[in-house]
Amino acid sequence: MKRILYSLLIAAVILPGATAHLQARDRKPKTSKTVQAAEPVRNVILMIGDGMGLAQVTSYMLRGGAPLSLARAQSIGLQSTFSASSEVTDSAAAATALATGTKTNNGMISMTPDKQPLRSVLERAAAAGLATGLVDTHAITDATPVAFIGHNESRKNEDDLAADFLRTDIDLFIGGGRDHFEKRSDGRNISDELREKGYTVAYSLDTLAALDKSPVGILLADKSLPLVSQGRGDMLPRATDQALRLLSANGDKGFFVMIEGSHIDNGGHDNNAETVLSEIRDFDAAVKIALDFADRTPGTLVIITGDHETGGMTLPSDENKFDMGKLQPGDKNRATVQFSTKGHTACLIPVYAYGAGAARFSGFMDNTDIPKRIAEALHLE
Ligand SMILES: [Zn+2]
Repeated sequence: MKRILYSLLIAAVILPGATAHLQARDRKPKTSKTVQAAEPVRNVILMIGDGMGLAQVTSYMLRGGAPLSLARAQSIGLQSTFSASSEVTDSAAAATALATGTKTNNGMISMTPDKQPLRSVLERAAAAGLATGLVDTHAITDATPVAFIGHNESRKNEDDLAADFLRTDIDLFIGGGRDHFEKRSDGRNISDELREKGYTVAYSLDTLAALDKSPVGILLADKSLPLVSQGRGDMLPRATDQALRLLSANGDKGFFVMIEGSHIDNGGHDNNAETVLSEIRDFDAAVKIALDFADRTPGTLVIITGDHETGGMTLPSDENKFDMGKLQPGDKNRATVQFSTKGHTACLIPVYAYGAGAARFSGFMDNTDIPKRIAEALHLE
């Protein structure tokens, strides 16, 4: 009975946010205090689709062949993504904003433009005793994941960024980038140094599945993992499932984890709609696992967003002949996905939230607001 009443209370708080497009009063961000009192947040799952804007998501709704789990979002907002140095952000500056709540120049990792290190929400969560994790389909030292734990004036210094994994007691990380831990120009072996700190460092998800305690680092590729279309399989959904299993074994303290679908961005850069579609499908499968986890784990907040849009993707229509393939010479009666650039764009990016405290993420935001609101929800110092 208590549970039913609690659910009704949650519904009463969250549902108005879900209709934010309908009424002017709902366009304002919700004040957080009411939500905070009703719904303590213990676990935060931040999911980033690299290069994922509205067209990318819509392409999956129209041509993905399966329901979009993202559509279960209870609260939807928009974030601006410009960096300190450009109207069009790169992944490093965007990740710095999403990790630390501060704008920096393109190319920089969790440092101010004048090279002062910035504290990330993951570092703050770890200091507060929460379990923390990073899951990625690219190198774990790539810009998006590493901004949550590393600090460097350049995203290119991936050997240095790998060494930053020794500085924060992160409980779990899964991704590629093994070379930056074990085949380094300075001859150090960061995997061995992590082992000396008590980590299990291993190289397969099967090994991870057999573990029941952290800290653990799983390095699945020398550099990036491949695209889904090149054989990555269900690594991201599996890794998400395993990460949530291990991090939630942390008792009452809760956890913070960032999970990235990195290669949606590649589809945009390559102007390849099929890659966008297969990578969104994979990311959305991981989203489903996170939302199902939130359903059975009270106090879990899931935030799903992108870091920027890639490709200037549009979905033109010609009656119902629109399709995902490339336009071939002589195609007159087909409408296909179009791209306006091989790079990133400045477009606003949707922010989807689900579970405890989801209403905090409705309305208009800047990317720097997101970690601030996460830190508030978790009462981080
Ligand atoms: Zn990016």
